[in-house]
Amino acid sequence: MASVNADAPWLSGLNDAQLSAVQHLNGPLLVLSGAGTGKTRVLTSRLAHLLATGTAKPWNILAVTFTNKAAREMKDRVAAMIGPAVEQVWFGTFHALAAKILRRHAELVGLKPNFTILDTDDQLRLLKQLMEASGLDPKRFPPRMMLATISRWKDKGLSPDRVSPIEQAELAEGSGADLYHQYQDRLKALNACDFGDLLLHNLTIFNAHPDVLAQYHDRITHLMVDEYQDTNTAQYLWIRLLAQKHQNICCVGDDDQSIYGWRGAEIANMLKFEEVYPNAAVIRLEQNYRSTGHILEAASSLIARNESRLGKTLYTSIEKGEKLTVSGFWDGGSEARDTADKIESMVRHKEADYSDIAVLVRAGYQTREFEERFIQIGLPYRVVGAKFYERLEIRDAIAYLRVIAQPADDLALERIINTPRRGIGAATIQTIHQLARARDLPMLAAAEVLITTDELKAAARKKLTELINMFIQWRVDAETLSHTELAMKVLDESGYTEMWMAQKTPEAEGRLENLKELVSAMEGFENLEGFLEHISLVMDGDNKANEGEVTLMTLHAAKGLEFDVVFLPGWEDGIFPSQRTLDEKGSAGLEEERRLAYVGITRAKRKLYLSYASSRRVHGLWQSAVPSRFLLELPKDNIEEDLEQGMINATNARPSTDFALLQPTAASGYGPGWRRLQERQQSGYQPARAPAEGQSGLSGISDFDTGDRVFHQKFGNGNIRSVEGDKLNIAFDKAGMKKVVASFVELVRKGG
Ligand code: ATP
Ligand code: MG
Repeated sequence: MASVNADAPWLSGLNDAQLSAVQHLNGPLLVLSGAGTGKTRVLTSRLAHLLATGTAKPWNILAVTFTNKAAREMKDRVAAMIGPAVEQVWFGTFHALAAKILRRHAELVGLKPNFTILDTDDQLRLLKQLMEASGLDPKRFPPRMMLATISRWKDKGLSPDRVSPIEQAELAEGSGADLYHQYQDRLKALNACDFGDLLLHNLTIFNAHPDVLAQYHDRITHLMVDEYQDTNTAQYLWIRLLAQKHQNICCVGDDDQSIYGWRGAEIANMLKFEEVYPNAAVIRLEQNYRSTGHILEAASSLIARNESRLGKTLYTSIEKGEKLTVSGFWDGGSEARDTADKIESMVRHKEADYSDIAVLVRAGYQTREFEERFIQIGLPYRVVGAKFYERLEIRDAIAYLRVIAQPADDLALERIINTPRRGIGAATIQTIHQLARARDLPMLAAAEVLITTDELKAAARKKLTELINMFIQWRVDAETLSHTELAMKVLDESGYTEMWMAQKTPEAEGRLENLKELVSAMEGFENLEGFLEHISLVMDGDNKANEGEVTLMTLHAAKGLEFDVVFLPGWEDGIFPSQRTLDEKGSAGLEEERRLAYVGITRAKRKLYLSYASSRRVHGLWQSAVPSRFLLELPKDNIEEDLEQGMINATNARPSTDFALLQPTAASGYGPGWRRLQERQQSGYQPARAPAEGQSGLSGISDFDTGDRVFHQKFGNGNIRSVEGDKLNIAFDKAGMKKVVASFVELVRKGG
């Protein structure tokens, strides 16, 4: 071990407990402590120390962070300490690291290295198709819930053959037992996987191929995990396998900040650390370096109400600071107005910059009211989250790029095959599906066969040929053009940009702006594959931080971050704690919500504002609300109240006549066009199965010979004049000479 000066920059300023964690370089180590005690800082310093002491080379270290943003930040900090060697460290989220490993060994689980990573939307569409084919009623068994069950199995590390019969019964009361299998098969056929698969496939590979796991043991000698309290079982198993040989594993976490139980996180993973890794050192940090006294006291006494927790003491040497401000409002609108006013006033008085301020909400839809107000008064803000990539125009544009990168990506092709409208209608798409199914081809390949025949109407054939030729050309372009040039070319040549330009509405303007933004976002990546990988992995909280903007995001996404000034609006029972969590998970749910409140409060360094409204429009309906029980749980000594005039006696603030005027607004913000698109995409697709009725016996191409009498669904009876591989030239009795695909005809009588 190289000797390291005790005043090395990454060690200076650390307290004794932190220092002992940083200097514990080998063997299992758990750092368990409250918010703002420097856990993440310990990880970063320890990484530098591992390298500086020569204990590990950069490529020997794997560091898992909660968001890609956190990975980037940690990388930047370590880079400042050790320079360019940082590039070789394995930084990333569980998903990003697992994706990197999976690309190298994709064929071991039946995928190609360029597999697509599907988002929830694609997953749902796929599952709906499978359910439809299995005759499962989506009203009785909501696909979203079915998907949640499958995802939960994946989070537990259960591949289809490892789901127990009892668990199987959870899926559509047992009638969907096969659905998970079908879903996985279909993903494979599409050369795709979903988020859960990234880890699950890694586990399958490591378990079935000890030689592959051994490669990683040779390479990765030291592992570090931030936010360990939120790992799910699959992630826990993944870490355990990778750390198996060297046992040099350092995890940091806080049981009070476990907020992803609903996504399968298991606090138990952290609590049994010492069992799983014997001889583990456990270090607790107690000094909070982030928040003022009032903020820390309020947070500590709130979380003390949870029964299932390890319990810890926290102190801060920062001054007491200002009390927390709790405000009550008539409605959400005045809450948003007041928040904006407070922000403007702080900035005007140079008490804070926009970028020091965050508004954190319980649920994504709650940002809208603030956004509207901020836009109105020109207050600069950014919404952190995956929202950008969820926008219709962005998803369309990405679908084009996906088909170029991965021609078997049927879900992407379906999305844009007729967007913009190019005369490739439902009937044509149906025919493509039919052939794709019969011949087990990707849709694009099936379409390529069809355009050499008379199966499609002349006009549709022409349009489809044009589209296919464009894709062929773009794929050639991809070899020579940069990925951003390619994107611009594709958006123009496909007619996509033109489609929005033709609309001349403010909304269309916005979409065009977003498309430009997309191209500039791509600039940050080396190539198309890198970009596509990124967008399929981005999670909440991943956007680049901009200077001079207020941050709007969910509490979940704010984990690990800190801001001088934090606003926590919408503290009303039912919203926060969320009614749904209470209904579904009872007191365990309440405790998870309380941990989320604790996360929210502890994001603030200097000043915290909490608020509630006594009436609020939720999904288009006015609801009256009572202040969150969490507000009542805050110690009086730490808060000051600031209520709107007459607030306390306010009950139903809105007259009932208002109700009739209110139209439900979709929380997602997508207009009717979006829904139409979804409906269109859902229709007319039957997943690969046995040939449909009336098409049996169509399997073999060689079944047909010149002279055979055959039946074709569209053209009727006819005689085969010649056979060209999988295509037949047939003289039809009524339709005349046609070239058709062999799969589409049925033998009537052998000729000769
Ligand atoms: P969370 O639980 O919210 O993730 P954490 O335990 O990871 O918090 P950090 O984010 O690492 O805490 O640290 C909180 C703040 O305290 C950061 O601004 C960090 O730079 C600062 N900090 C940590 N340790 C020290 C120290 N020894 N001296 C001064 N500042 C410190
Ligand atoms: Mg942290």
